[in-house]
Amino acid sequence: MAAVLDERWIRSLHVESMRRADLHAEHDPHVLFQASTIGALLEGAYDGDLSFAELAEHGDLGLGTLNGLDGEMIALDGAFYRADVDGEVNPIAAEAKTPFAVVTRFEPTIDERLDGPLAHERLLERIDALVPAGASSCAIRLDGRFELVRARSVPAQSPPYRPLTEVVGGQHVFQLEDVVGTMLGFRFPAYVEGIEVAGFHLHFIDEGRRRGGHVLDSRSDGLRVRIDPSDDLHIELPPRIELADPDLAASTHAAIARAEGG
Ligand SMILES: [Zn+2]
Repeated sequence: MAAVLDERWIRSLHVESMRRADLHAEHDPHVLFQASTIGALLEGAYDGDLSFAELAEHGDLGLGTLNGLDGEMIALDGAFYRADVDGEVNPIAAEAKTPFAVVTRFEPTIDERLDGPLAHERLLERIDALVPAGASSCAIRLDGRFELVRARSVPAQSPPYRPLTEVVGGQHVFQLEDVVGTMLGFRFPAYVEGIEVAGFHLHFIDEGRRRGGHVLDSRSDGLRVRIDPSDDLHIELPPRIELADPDLAASTHAAIARAEGG
């Protein structure tokens, strides 16, 4: 088993990568599990080999996309949802596959209230202040009322795939107003950019599980904030995908900012 495991420490984040055949269901708390890398997705690797049934063995909360870059994925309480290009939400079939997803068995150690109204940047600062100083990464769940959520989703692609920075030109941006729901996702350190999205990556789904997407901006008005700090990232690498060298992070920063930012 050790021969198939690429294990390394990237500063304080412990990263293990493995192939699909070597996966085992995740039972340890505070471990983040990821299918493929954001660097591979940026280059147009939109078809992964991991099904949502398999992904569910590694976590019950998370985000990502579907094969063919067919919308934004939201995992919440063990259910997997797809927000289509217009933000309409539907459940994902267990046999559907993902080219990029991050999930965890969410076991928060921090549970706080944040009063609103709070602009998105202020909200992120408040979350930063709640994360223990030593934690490199964390999973985040925010439940409550939002005056607005500005979100986007992406249209399904067909091969030959274009790079993500070109595809996001066709993204749809939409705004949800006065909505109760859940914003969830992760915060990763800058030094894993290329493997992951550095900083915050958040998706939203409303209470009725009807609307959602990749969060660009928000204004919240009273939230329950739960945070699950982590220093362990396990990565499943599809065939032909290798772990990006984090030293290349600087060169991919602009591309990730264009693809994932506002
Ligand atoms: Zn996203």
